[in-house]
Amino acid sequence: MNAKLIDGKAVAQSIKDEIKAEIEKITAGGGRAPALAVVLVGHDPASQIYVKNKRKACHAVGITSVEHLLDESTGEKTLLDVITILNNDDDIDGILVQLPLPKQISEPAVLEHINPLKDVDGFHPVNVGRLVANSPGLRPCTPAGILELLKRSGQDLVGKKVAVLGRSNIVGKPTATLLLHESCTVTICHSKTRHLADITRSADILIAAIGRPEFVTADMVKPSAVVIDVGVNRTPKGVVGDVDFEGVKKVAGYLSPVPGGVGPMTIAMLMYNTLKAYKGLSRRPVGGGH
Ligand code: NAP
Repeated sequence: MNAKLIDGKAVAQSIKDEIKAEIEKITAGGGRAPALAVVLVGHDPASQIYVKNKRKACHAVGITSVEHLLDESTGEKTLLDVITILNNDDDIDGILVQLPLPKQISEPAVLEHINPLKDVDGFHPVNVGRLVANSPGLRPCTPAGILELLKRSGQDLVGKKVAVLGRSNIVGKPTATLLLHESCTVTICHSKTRHLADITRSADILIAAIGRPEFVTADMVKPSAVVIDVGVNRTPKGVVGDVDFEGVKKVAGYLSPVPGGVGPMTIAMLMYNTLKAYKGLSRRPVGGGH
């Protein structure tokens, strides 16, 4: 059998359409458009592409995009001062500092300096705590995108066995936490996990986020399972995911491709978080979900 493709590009587009419509209503009523500030330090080519894509997405949905481009040699104090200005600027709703940062700057110090209410990446410890507690806050974009992809492709999550491959702070752990809150039974796997294939073969939903090209093969997948490929690996044959697409599509029930799966969802959820921060939803004292 051939797995149904989970079309992340199409799902991301429908999310961006919804956001655009909401922002049009706000501005038609005389409101200010939401604004996202992106801070880039240095000239890393991949980061420059990410920043350009974020700018394009902002323009497409009607979010004002403000960019601060700082020199590679920028010191930590200067960057923290820029963030302080953005924290205090009432016309800025979201702040994103593009990672990685040059080595003279401490990433945790920078991430912790961002006002949690404007932390659209969801990396501030306050938002990490809110995620774990399942209280309102800004959720990290890639994990939120994975959850949205599962929901919008019609997956019933309650009670499902999930294997998350990878335990990073930006993908594996928050994805596992979000799925736990959806009442999945989650196993988090990592490089020291023993009998990995036994775990993956018993999973109804398999999330691969390890950064190993085509690591997940057909024999590791339960027939009809839902497989989400988060990996982005540049290889001589082009960009591939963590899943052997050709092999796994013969076994899985649903499969997200690379590119065109999780990638577009990450940017759509950044737009979603910026609108959420604008509306102040991340500071509501009650309510669930993301
Ligand atoms: P990371 O920080 O390098 O973490 C990789 C994780 O995978 C670690 O927990 C590691 O285990 C685990 N791992 C590595 N080899 C393994 C193996 N053979 N078996 C089981 N687990 C293994 O990577 P990341 O930032 O989470 O990103 C993961 C992948 O997702 C990368 O390809 C990245 O490019 C991609 N990504 C995509 C998006 C998107 O928007 N599409 C966003 C973010 C990341 P240990 O903890 O034991 O080392």
